[in-house]
Amino acid sequence: MTSRSGPVVRCAAVSVLAAIVVTSGITMDSTSADAVPVLSELNVERSAAKIAELLQQRSETVLNADVDAHMATLAPSAGPSVWATESRLVFGAETIGLVTYVEALAEPVVDLSPPGANVIDGNRAITLEIKRTMRIGDFDERDHISSLFMTFVHVDGAWKLHGDHALSSIGLAGDRELWELYDTEIVRRETVVVVGTASRARLTALADLTEDAIDRFERSWPWPWAGRVVVMVPARSEELERLIQPMIDVSKFVAFTTLSVDRSEGWFVVAPRIVAQEGNLALRSPARQIDILVHELTHMASVTASGPATPLWAHEGLAEWVTAGRPSSNKGALELPDLHLFRTGSSAEIRQVYDQAADTMQRIAGSFGDEAPWELFQHIGAAVRVAGTNDHILDRALRAVTGFTLEELTR
Ligand SMILES: [Zn+2]
Repeated sequence: MTSRSGPVVRCAAVSVLAAIVVTSGITMDSTSADAVPVLSELNVERSAAKIAELLQQRSETVLNADVDAHMATLAPSAGPSVWATESRLVFGAETIGLVTYVEALAEPVVDLSPPGANVIDGNRAITLEIKRTMRIGDFDERDHISSLFMTFVHVDGAWKLHGDHALSSIGLAGDRELWELYDTEIVRRETVVVVGTASRARLTALADLTEDAIDRFERSWPWPWAGRVVVMVPARSEELERLIQPMIDVSKFVAFTTLSVDRSEGWFVVAPRIVAQEGNLALRSPARQIDILVHELTHMASVTASGPATPLWAHEGLAEWVTAGRPSSNKGALELPDLHLFRTGSSAEIRQVYDQAADTMQRIAGSFGDEAPWELFQHIGAAVRVAGTNDHILDRALRAVTGFTLEELTR
């Protein structure tokens, strides 16, 4: 049985938003006549400004851990699950030590309300994309950015939060953190913070294993990295799926590193997280769990240098090569693995392409030096706004690092 690990891509903000704008236009037109004025008849700008104020107030109540003031931002129509999530948000922020928490309207401001959802209990309502920015103190070197699709309702002259599930039926559930979705325990050390729904004993064991993995990783990774890591441990697979909203069969994998990209201003890889697939990870020996964590730590240290043209073989090849202690060999031509198999292959095929990717990095190191695989990874990732296919970008990066073309290296 093969269980490999890999980055999860989520949050394709711009392409998703484009689809929504169209849907929303149809929605507004088809909303049935109602005694309550729909938002298009109101001063949308003024409403957005008032909602922005509410979001600022909410951001402050989270950072101040003022749960009463925070719950006062909820509408009477907000259900029990919204109350539970929102109170966990405030307590979780304090326990995990958020030093940044900002909710803001995503630009451009577009009413995303689904059909019939412009009115709740006789009050005007609107659904908007909210961009959240947060940082865990001492751990996040850069912002962790995600989106929620929040519905606000106008009650007694003020906008309040009704909920964030209006668009989940069309696949836009928004990104909630594990500590918001469930009651969690947190184990905090100097270099690792583990957040999970697994038992405290298991979370403590994982913190120990991660510390050991960091020691080993640093012997194999001579380049700069943050030195600290956040590990999420959903105990059950349904919790894992709710957290990372995967487009792959998670049962084939043991752990993930999130690769979320904020495209609002180009290409910004947000602070990554390691996420355990406990159903598989906990069954492994401690030594094997450390191997897996070293693999994920390589993703942690490298994903922020990845770009839109970085192929999966480069992500997985680098991680496997570092986990193996950066071996080198210079036998034969490079053989690039079939990219589709990394996610959709059988377990045996997935194992094969991971090995092939590691072998590719090993050969690059053997022929062009120990620095070459990481240099190549950075060159490919730096091509953010470059014309040309991914093969063209890879070819250019290979020429810069090795002096040879893709064709010369693979024939
Ligand atoms: Zn991986």
